[in-house]
Amino acid sequence: MDLPTVEAMVPGDEADWRPGDCWLAGGTVLFSRPQQGVRRLRDLTVLGWPSLAAADDEGRPGLDIAATCTVATLARYRPPARWPDLAVAIRRCCDAFLASWKIWNVATVGGNLCAALPAGPMISLAAAFDARCDVRRLSGERRLVPVDAFVVEPGVAALQPGEYLHAIHLPERELTGRIAVRRASLHPLGRSAAFVTGHLDVESGRLRLTVTAATPRPVTVSVPAPTAAASLVDMVDAQVSAEGWHDDVHGLPAWRRHMTLRLVEQVRADLLGAAR
Ligand SMILES: Cc1cc2nc3c(=O)[nH]c(=O)nc-3n(C[C@H](O)[C@H](O)[C@H](O)COP(=O)(O)OP(=O)(O)OC[C@H]3O[C@@H](n4cnc5c(N)ncnc54)[C@H](O)[C@@H]3O)c2cc1C
Repeated sequence: MDLPTVEAMVPGDEADWRPGDCWLAGGTVLFSRPQQGVRRLRDLTVLGWPSLAAADDEGRPGLDIAATCTVATLARYRPPARWPDLAVAIRRCCDAFLASWKIWNVATVGGNLCAALPAGPMISLAAAFDARCDVRRLSGERRLVPVDAFVVEPGVAALQPGEYLHAIHLPERELTGRIAVRRASLHPLGRSAAFVTGHLDVESGRLRLTVTAATPRPVTVSVPAPTAAASLVDMVDAQVSAEGWHDDVHGLPAWRRHMTLRLVEQVRADLLGAAR
């Protein structure tokens, strides 16, 4: 839709931050609803950040995904063999978008995290690898925020005025682990209503499960070694129930809880099978 209050579009790195400024990436969320009070769009896509970089800079080996990397570019990425489950995890999460290739070609990974929707599949992907969000200010100050702290509540990310998401860092150690992904929705091409990712650290045996889509924000449960299915289900149930199950047109809370707990069992079985 038109955004009639917008007076100008400027490059994202324009020095002065003004009231009414708003970051623009692919625009698939921004242009889908009225944006009261937005005066200038600050275009991040013109800044030429490399979409994907297997990095070992500053002692942070792993993969950096630029916030401006499109879903289509991410889906085409072919990771090195030392990251055994990354390609499948990317594909499963990209496929979880209730969107056509036209959206894939403009929607960005960073825009998905910043939109902070419960069904944000790039949030699920980042959480699966315990990613760090590289948040910056125009002055160059920088902080790293765990993805489950970056998403605060539906539609709200942990960004102060003038801060932007520059990249998502997937640590090397996490990338070498085994990953399982399961999702449920009300119909085959429906928006995700329950999404469970599991990560098994093959060296230490630590198991981490993250629930998204069924919850307003990511909820993570981590155990030092694979645990019996029933107790893992109980742990997830207790933790999510304490924070609350999400409720919207894509599924009732009781159904989301039922599906999530089934997916937890399946993810656990997938991971133990992969480890064998
Ligand atoms: C048909 C269709 C289906 C969709 N299906 C899904 C779905 O299943 N799940 C889902 O989660 N979403 C879905 N979306 C919404 C949207 O396409 C995605 O969330 C997409 O990833 C948003 O990225 P974008 O680059 O278009 O963000 P934009 O619209 O450009 O930005 C979204 C918000 O984030 C802010 N922002 C963007 N990038 C940054 C940054 N780097 N730093 C700081 N702030 C930033 C913007 O100011 C804006 O507030 C769908 C959209 C359509 C049209």
